[in-house]
Amino acid sequence: MTSPASQKPIPQPSDLAAPYWEAARQGRLKIQRCRDCRFWVHFPDVRCPRCGSEHLAFEAVSGQGRISTFTFVHRTFVAGFEGDVPYPVAWIDLVEQPGLRVFADLADTPAETVAIGLPVEVVFSERAGWGTIPSFRPAASGVATDHSSNDEPSNDGPSKDREVPS
Ligand SMILES: [Zn+2]
Repeated sequence: MTSPASQKPIPQPSDLAAPYWEAARQGRLKIQRCRDCRFWVHFPDVRCPRCGSEHLAFEAVSGQGRISTFTFVHRTFVAGFEGDVPYPVAWIDLVEQPGLRVFADLADTPAETVAIGLPVEVVFSERAGWGTIPSFRPAASGVATDHSSNDEPSNDGPSKDREVPS
């Protein structure tokens, strides 16, 4: 007997989110960004929450960040994930901008290693019937985030400027 219920769901992107998922299908993590003030916007929006511009486009990000917060899914109601529980999911603070946060599952991450502040990097895995989708895993270097801003003038100081002021 086949078991169609064991198939994991595929993305059903809205028009706004379609470029994000299309990039993921090509193995790239792209985030919406304001063309006028260069603010990164996630989740995608029709106008920039910072300057109000409607000139938004998707640009590639490094895929590096740190776990902001996480939880473990012990009981799933989504078909296809029954065999995965318990599995971790997390909000990831991307290095590109303070407060730029994406939600994802954590792949290749043993439960005992999951921690707030853990450096992570994006990884893509195949989802049957769709293509690749993004997850995050512990960063290979373990120090991924502090040196990634190649377009910033100072790249070897402590990352105090990345702490959320509030
Ligand atoms: Zn803007």
